Amino acid sequence: AAVIVAIDGPSGTGKSSTSKAVAAKLGLSYLDTGAQYRAITWWMLNNGIDVADPVAIADAAGKPVIVSGTDPSAPTITVDGIDASGPIRTQEVTSKVSAVSAVPEVRTLITELQRSIAKGAALGIVVEGRDIGTTVLPDADLKIFLTASPEARAARRSGELKGADVSATREALLKRDAADSSRKTSPLAKADDAVEVDTSDLTLDQVIECVVTLVEG
Ligand code: C5P
Repeated sequence: AAVIVAIDGPSGTGKSSTSKAVAAKLGLSYLDTGAQYRAITWWMLNNGIDVADPVAIADAAGKPVIVSGTDPSAPTITVDGIDASGPIRTQEVTSKVSAVSAVPEVRTLITELQRSIAKGAALGIVVEGRDIGTTVLPDADLKIFLTASPEARAARRSGELKGADVSATREALLKRDAADSSRKTSPLAKADDAVEVDTSDLTLDQVIECVVTLVEG
């Protein structure tokens, strides 16, 4: 049967790198749900929607067509047929995505999309996000919750951003976590039956190994 793995946690814990590598190793599909929330945010910003206005966001939420490619070696995301993989990583999108993803209409639509992608993955899928184990796929075969110290997370993220200031990165990360954890609809949270892995002092290979062992166990 298809195996479903949910990997949740805040940013900078190694979620994406781990999820992609585990999916590739096990021959599973891969879905980055953060990319979908970023894509809808990017569309809102491009289409003159006031992202401080939840009613305007809710009204527009059904308009963009978001398509995710689930090959872990080359994941893709398009919005209305346009490749959005670059523009969804800008600071502008990063700073607005929590507000957009807090709107219940947005979550309902994206959650449905995620469930249909997971259902369509014949061999199974690794789905990474914030609410996968709690809300999107509560029946997942394995749930992982990745954590790491704020220092480790900020260091990783500023490494990815090529020399960005570590303390500014840390503040931005913590602010986004606080927003994601405090929203009313499906906040960032560990499912009761998730296995928590603290990645602060682990290499990426060690985290991958740990998750693969848990899937195979
Ligand atoms: O994982 P990433 O940092 O790209 O996620 C971007 C944002 O998308 C998060 O900060 C959060 O606001 C939102 N998100 C969410 N639920 C998910 C995945 C991401 O609300 N399952």
